[in-house]
Amino acid sequence: GTITEIYDFLRLLYARTAEAFSYATGKKMIRQSDDQIINYILKHFDGKKLVVLAPVVKGRKGHYREDFQKIAKLGFTKVRVDGELLDITPKMQVDRYKIHDIEIVIDRLVVKEDDRFRLSGSVQNALTHGKGTMLVLDPDAKKAAPQFFSRFLMDPETGIAYDDPAPNTFSFNSPYGACPHCAGLGEVQQITEETVIPDPKLSISRGGIAPLGEYRDIWIFQQLQLILKKHKVSLNTAIEKLPAELLQRLMHGITQDEADDAKGAYTEPFEGIIPFLRRQMESDSDNIREWIQQYTQAQTCPVCEGYRLKKESLHFKLASKHIGELSVMDINELSSWFVDVEGRLSERQNLIARELLKEIRKRIGFLLEVGLDYLSLHRSVRTLSGGESQRIRLATQIGTQLVGVLYIMDEPSIGLHQRDNERLIKALQHLRDIGNSVIVVEHDKDMILHADHVLDIGPGAGIHGGHIVAEGTPEAIFNS
Ligand SMILES: [Zn+2]
Repeated sequence: GTITEIYDFLRLLYARTAEAFSYATGKKMIRQSDDQIINYILKHFDGKKLVVLAPVVKGRKGHYREDFQKIAKLGFTKVRVDGELLDITPKMQVDRYKIHDIEIVIDRLVVKEDDRFRLSGSVQNALTHGKGTMLVLDPDAKKAAPQFFSRFLMDPETGIAYDDPAPNTFSFNSPYGACPHCAGLGEVQQITEETVIPDPKLSISRGGIAPLGEYRDIWIFQQLQLILKKHKVSLNTAIEKLPAELLQRLMHGITQDEADDAKGAYTEPFEGIIPFLRRQMESDSDNIREWIQQYTQAQTCPVCEGYRLKKESLHFKLASKHIGELSVMDINELSSWFVDVEGRLSERQNLIARELLKEIRKRIGFLLEVGLDYLSLHRSVRTLSGGESQRIRLATQIGTQLVGVLYIMDEPSIGLHQRDNERLIKALQHLRDIGNSVIVVEHDKDMILHADHVLDIGPGAGIHGGHIVAEGTPEAIFNS
């Protein structure tokens, strides 16, 4: 429908014109041509010693034995491993269970304008081995931060790189766009205190911690009893009467360190009810997972904050808004955001965006026409009422400008305010005027009064009706 079409155009708009910002530093991401990189180095490192590096492993685990030998076979003798410059030795390897950064030392040189040839060879070599990214380092500076360069979008400070954006970068249905934490749903099922303790008036032994049920002679009740006893309360104390701090610990756990602390209030380590239940969610048993399900609640995903996209996608911005921020606006807000957006875009952005902006505005206009100004792009189709989804389809139809079509609608005015009802009637009349037929099943008086021809079916409902009791223009029927 029109709503998804607008979002599709927005995805195109973002892929083509949005600017990327680093999720780590907030800085604008840049991409550079080989010449720009060379000129930058000549300007900023003139006369200095420099190590040119090509990253081959970035934050991954492994021993990399074969990789070191491959690098040696290419004719390189040095690497930088986790920040340390090392000679490549036979059978060299690193701790396979640790995360490593490995770079090839491509060249060590003194930057000089009249030796541009050597520098440019090294830069190109580094970019080739580094698959488009490279870094340089002043070997004499103690703890010097390397500077990153990239042919792709990259944060020059941290070296974080993004893939070039494509429309699916902004799709929560695509693995290229979806938030990995909630799989693009915007919500996660979480065990919460409210679901675990539905009635705090109950004591623990009376089943106050719902997933545990009533008291039984099993280890978890024994363990709870032990902790409670130290605080001069018991399994028979109503949960709401337990000290708040103690209840927090029962829910979220007591660490070994806290239990060992002689001055602390706890003597036993305890996993905590919620971490215990959370662990059961990973269980291999369907029964256990189903049992846990009933104590979970849908909560806004803490990673994407409900925007459903991965963090990289939410750091592409257009006129300082990311696509998620636009998708939660209602159509009215979205419409006014787009009214003067050209003024907030660069010349280049405007050039690319022109046609897309036209398409987006046109469709926003259709939705306004049929009284759906309160919807947002974010609202998923399954939460729409019957009347709303009919009106969205209607907006789509108005967009296509088809003629010779018969439209049949069942109470499309349901839930509409007076003002919007008038717009809906106008939209239907527009469909008629351009050469279509529109049949509407309605109780709404205004809608009936605007019909060209009315069939009044009745006299009662269900089996008491079904007969045409009046027929003609609205005036004729009211006068009869
Ligand atoms: Zn998420």
